Amino acid sequence: MPELPEVETIRCDLEPRLRSRTITAVRITPDAVSLVDGVSPAEFARRLKGRRIETLSRRGKYLILHLSRDLHLIVHLRMTGALLHRDAAAPADRYVRAVLSLDDGTELRFADLRKLGRLRLAADPDEVVGRLGPEPLGARFTAAVLQEAIGKRRAPIKAVLLDQRALAGLGNIYADEALFAARIHPQRRADTLSEAENRRLHRSIRRVLRDALDNRGASFRDYVDGGGREGRHQFHVKVFRRTGQPCYVCGAEIERTKVGGRSTHFCPRCQPQG
Ligand SMILES: [Zn+2]
Repeated sequence: MPELPEVETIRCDLEPRLRSRTITAVRITPDAVSLVDGVSPAEFARRLKGRRIETLSRRGKYLILHLSRDLHLIVHLRMTGALLHRDAAAPADRYVRAVLSLDDGTELRFADLRKLGRLRLAADPDEVVGRLGPEPLGARFTAAVLQEAIGKRRAPIKAVLLDQRALAGLGNIYADEALFAARIHPQRRADTLSEAENRRLHRSIRRVLRDALDNRGASFRDYVDGGGREGRHQFHVKVFRRTGQPCYVCGAEIERTKVGGRSTHFCPRCQPQG
């Protein structure tokens, strides 16, 4: 569920709190059997212990902790994962699967109801994120880059926007919102978009993501920021989960359909089949 704006909000919250801290201990709960990718929980803990956190970056929906001595901890929150920075003495959080103790008496807790989130260690983060498509908020993301990423794909545009190798960071919420803002039907074949539509989509993707960032992400269900607080963008969406409610632009009822197996929301009047 956390998409680019949610993961970026967490990164901004955590970066000043975690920077220059040293990891003093690591605990993985016994029920978190598939949380750590590639190594055993014991080996994972051994490799993290004693490392300093240098900086935090984000690629798509992945959060990357850059650690001393050329190691990276790559966090993928998936459906219900959350990273909470707490005093070690703070009350327990629910569904905690891993705890990184830090040298200032705080800890980073990884909580995950559905247990789909993953933690992975890598010397080179590209081992995990190297195949992702362009960053939609990056300075180099132009309309031409978008055209290059999606322009030859024959799949419905909504499905292509969800493909992280085409474009990084969009999930179900922001794909629906961007297509509404661009007035493009979610079932349109990606390779049939006109140049004007491609430009509109490029602008819409960036605006929708920036607005969501300004609102500190959308909390439809489980998402919370690095301090455990909900975002506000769920109050500002135009189509996502507004099935049957009037379109803010034209008054038509928002409809729900499925594209590539994912539930999809759109305005039949503002986004004609075309
Ligand atoms: Zn409408």
